[in-house]
Amino acid sequence: MANTLYCYHCRIYHPKEEMRQIETKGGKRWRCIKSIEATKRGMEAREAFGRQTTDINKAEAQSKARLVLNAEK
Ligand SMILES: [Zn+2]
Repeated sequence: MANTLYCYHCRIYHPKEEMRQIETKGGKRWRCIKSIEATKRGMEAREAFGRQTTDINKAEAQSKARLVLNAEK
């Protein structure tokens, strides 16, 4: 276990070269690159989803606006 570090995210030991030390509210902790990357990807996916939802809302608002215009005719 000489070259392993405890990953607070996975709660298991990983090889040291797969680990990064990061600052958390509780102080410095070791976390594996894999979990950091996974979180980053997850955040990007959420952002992409948010953008998609915004586009849908925009399209909906536009179609509603068109309906209002048609109703006024
Ligand atoms: Zn890990």
